[in-house]
Amino acid sequence: MQVCLKCVLNEHFLGIRFDENGICNFCSSADSTDKQRSIRSKHEERFKQLVQEHKGRGSYDCLAAYSGGKDSTYTLHLLMERYDLRILTYSYDNWFQSDTAKRNIRAVLRNANVDHLTVTPSFESIKSIVLTSLSDDIYPPKALTRASSICTSCISLVRFAGFRIAIDQDIPFLVFGMSPGQAPMATAVVKTNPRMIKTMQAALLRPLTEKLGDTVRPFFLEQRHFDKAESFPYSINPLAFAEYNEEVIYKTIAEYGWRKPDDTDANSTNCLLNALANQVHLDKYGFNPYAYEIAELVRIGCMAREEGLARLGEPFPADQIEEVKKKLGIV
Ligand SMILES: [Zn+2]
Repeated sequence: MQVCLKCVLNEHFLGIRFDENGICNFCSSADSTDKQRSIRSKHEERFKQLVQEHKGRGSYDCLAAYSGGKDSTYTLHLLMERYDLRILTYSYDNWFQSDTAKRNIRAVLRNANVDHLTVTPSFESIKSIVLTSLSDDIYPPKALTRASSICTSCISLVRFAGFRIAIDQDIPFLVFGMSPGQAPMATAVVKTNPRMIKTMQAALLRPLTEKLGDTVRPFFLEQRHFDKAESFPYSINPLAFAEYNEEVIYKTIAEYGWRKPDDTDANSTNCLLNALANQVHLDKYGFNPYAYEIAELVRIGCMAREEGLARLGEPFPADQIEEVKKKLGIV
């Protein structure tokens, strides 16, 4: 099987082409390191300026999605230390948070001393969302190059639940802790508006409601939200413009009491569903749903290629997959 000699993407990755040197089109079309650095600092400057303009508008300056994973924990640290914001965090409990993730959430919230909300859909809702995402082709393959279908469903719920809360509470910044490879640079600082979010929501909500009826409705925006154009937040992804160094990240978040989990697979620090979601995705499409993220981290010099390949080559924990299947009633 052909694998790009610069990153870690293989020949099954959607839209991939290799040149005569064995380098993929994603690598050859990537911006130079200098250009990336300059784009990053522009985004950072813009965010700093927006913080000055919008800070102090209401009870909270920002709503931060907090999963208890390493990236969102580090993002929380940046929001506090670098931008001095009043933060409301929220987490999404899909009934498959690892025990370590739950412990980490409690420890970090306590040490960071921030307010928190938990969004917990009913177990039956989650079960039907997960089973539908597994068995039906509810998303086009193009939508699944950076995440499995289960992840895509959960991330949608997290994202739109965040928009609901931010709009309802008039919070100017909605912050996500996606790593540089999970989210493109273009998502670093985005002023959202009803039209944009309505289009995004329709693309995700339509396939889910076709299968599940109104089960997922309460987590998405309603017309009353779209009518409040002035309350649509800036969507911010600080890790797209902050420096991303896993060693620094682990060291920093340890100071908040965060501990590295030993109960999830190699690519997730918080969700037990991940192993099953990744296995199904790999079997179906021929590439690990984390491949794009890891390829990007390798490309921008945040991870050695050998380490990226090793991470992608790790087998998914079979016992975890079995346990999750049992909980979902899949025999
Ligand atoms: Zn490549």
